[in-house]
Amino acid sequence: MDLTHASMVEIAQAVRSKKVSAKEVANHYKHRIEKLDKQLNSFITVNDQAETEAAKIDEKIARGEDPGPLAGVPFGVKDMFCTRGLKTTAASRILGGFVPPYDATVVARLKQAGIVVMGKLNLDEFAMGSSNETSAFGAVKNPWNLDCVPGGSSGGSAAAQAARLVAGTVGTDTGGSIRQPASFCGIVGVKPTYGRVSRYGIVAYASSLDQAGPMVSTVQDAALTLELISGRDERDSTTAEKKVPAFSKDLSTNVKGMKIGVLKEYMAGGLHPDVEKTVQKAMENLKSMGAELVEVSAPLTEHAVPIYYLIATSEASSNLARYDGVRFGHRADFGNLSAVELDQFYSRSRGEGFGDEVKRRIMLGTYCLSSGYYDAYYSKACQVRRLIRDQFDDVFKKCDVVLSPVSTHPAFKTGERISDPLAMYLNDIYTVSTNLAGLPGMSVPFGLSKERLPIGVQLTAGHYEEQKMLNVAAALEAVSPVKGEKPHVI
Ligand code: GLN
Repeated sequence: MDLTHASMVEIAQAVRSKKVSAKEVANHYKHRIEKLDKQLNSFITVNDQAETEAAKIDEKIARGEDPGPLAGVPFGVKDMFCTRGLKTTAASRILGGFVPPYDATVVARLKQAGIVVMGKLNLDEFAMGSSNETSAFGAVKNPWNLDCVPGGSSGGSAAAQAARLVAGTVGTDTGGSIRQPASFCGIVGVKPTYGRVSRYGIVAYASSLDQAGPMVSTVQDAALTLELISGRDERDSTTAEKKVPAFSKDLSTNVKGMKIGVLKEYMAGGLHPDVEKTVQKAMENLKSMGAELVEVSAPLTEHAVPIYYLIATSEASSNLARYDGVRFGHRADFGNLSAVELDQFYSRSRGEGFGDEVKRRIMLGTYCLSSGYYDAYYSKACQVRRLIRDQFDDVFKKCDVVLSPVSTHPAFKTGERISDPLAMYLNDIYTVSTNLAGLPGMSVPFGLSKERLPIGVQLTAGHYEEQKMLNVAAALEAVSPVKGEKPHVI
């Protein structure tokens, strides 16, 4: 069996039927990480207990117990999720030395299903970024071209998955952090409907936007992972009571009669020609498979980037206030603590602990929330957010799924945008509306640029309509012109 390229489903089947042991699989991937991650820097922490944990799955199988649908699948976890006994950093110095005493619900559910956690994956600090260059643990490289970024903030997850240092990963998406790196690295990434997946135990960035989801190699693996992590959690009151469909069992490539919306505003120009060609090709394919293309419009998406950055930074400034060096986080070394003024204590601890981008966001957010500016910025942004959501509700009365680009460009060069925050923020133009409206969205690999960089297409559906979106993704995957293409690192 080709362990390196097997899907999660194939690995689990092989482990469950004893064709290969979970320990052998963990060992295989451990060697890949050791050999290849020096170039990529996708791991912050490698779990040195992975093989021991895998052996326990083999013992379970030997005893005749059910090891779960993901038995022995080597998994990478974005370092935003708390993992019991395994360091969790959010790629920030401020969380240095933090070892959580519990697992995030997503991690607990996946462990219950049989995964083996191979380690914690790199990201932009506190998931703030679009290139994985703001990590306190160094930038991540794109396995398709080491001079390029893997996207962000879940850049480590995307790079590790594309280079097959793991067989599956999970990321978080506040404004595009699953979909954009999935597109840049040629993997499948799903951001579920807000409320579908528990946020318990995930380091909070912007709580009304954050959602976790799979970043994997196939649509089938995405459907299965999503199904396992979804559903009501008593520990997160924003999770929905809704029943979780059997996404993987009900997956179908039949798109006959489906209405695919093409959002006018997203195809209006400014697209890299190879991105435009990729989306056009996806349209043609869907049409030839019997879907109907309809033009739809959501004019307020023009304002989505500023609205997103007002809301996300406001929530971040509030969420990150907990890292004060007392209850949480890095504490500056003052020697004799009793001789320190409290203000000085906070500002030095936070000043040392946070990186520049995080500080910029805290300042922006604090400004938006301050009295005198609250109504003009934060309240106004929330009102426009509501209108964007309403416009999407109308869009989904006219179509089942919207097809669009994920990003204007394929992966850009490391260093190219990091000194220009506005250029970096504009990168999120096609992804943030989905979060503002609370909708599910995903990226499916469908093209390669002239420079052989991956290009994904984005699918968005109505609230809790993940199945429709996954089905269109499965249909595209089946005819994808880039099927079987691999990054040069593997
Ligand atoms: N790039 C966006 C930001 O920097 C999105 C990040 C994310 O989804 N976590 O905020």
